[in-house]
Amino acid sequence: MAEQIADAGGLEVRGLTKRFGDLLAVDGLSFAVRPGETVGLLGPNGAGKTTTLLCVAGLVRPSGGEVRWNGGLLGAERGRRVTLIAETPEVYAMLTVWEHLVFVARSCRLLDGWQHRGEELLERLGLSEQRDALGEALSKGMRQKTLIAASVLAGTPALLLDEPMIGLDPRGQRELRGMLEELRREGIALLISTHLLESAEAICDRVVIMKQGRLVAEGQIAELRQRRGSEETLEDAFLEITQ
Ligand code: ATP
Repeated sequence: MAEQIADAGGLEVRGLTKRFGDLLAVDGLSFAVRPGETVGLLGPNGAGKTTTLLCVAGLVRPSGGEVRWNGGLLGAERGRRVTLIAETPEVYAMLTVWEHLVFVARSCRLLDGWQHRGEELLERLGLSEQRDALGEALSKGMRQKTLIAASVLAGTPALLLDEPMIGLDPRGQRELRGMLEELRREGIALLISTHLLESAEAICDRVVIMKQGRLVAEGQIAELRQRRGSEETLEDAFLEITQ
């Protein structure tokens, strides 16, 4: 498996475990996300999705297991490989959108000329009008876009998003889907936790379904549906798998 991942590249989670006291929130979870692939992390409330994302991003220390990028264990350089955009995205309140990009450019020591790419990213993400707005004045969608711009500018190859559609209006959801599709085409590995099965169906190449910390199903959505009868919707399959 390790060799396969090294060949295919990407993010690999192996035997990830997280205990909170007696509770096993994540229980020996293994899956991979290739570059240019969008994987949906599904599961009922409390299944362990957010805990998984936090462990992969290095924001919570796992009790066991490992996370690799292109076959190498993620250590101190994890922030250069993986960005997590939380359900309530946090930006710096007193920095403008543009200053977030300046911050990234300085901390990643980007070569001069990054400004052109930064402006281009803001344009693509529809953020140019908010260029000089302070973080504290941004809506959820704008904060998400600011963090996506910062992550892309930094060249981070894996992006994790926790419930990114929640709180976005229909236009915002559509814009975000378009943006994620573009990132996927650029070769970013995307891992997205969501309860919105229609969104998962629209944007994910594969899904990983969790229940009580464990992986209970994994595969392409069409495949999961067919396994359970071709008439089934993803919702039917999800409810059966997680009942
Ligand atoms: P939801 O869909 O409701 O957001 P989830 O799949 O993201 O749920 P998690 O938030 O990862 O689930 O929680 C998994 C389990 O771990 C839950 O039982 C939760 O109560 C527990 N848990 C999460 N964080 C902690 C913590 N810091 N301390 C103790 N228990 C926690």
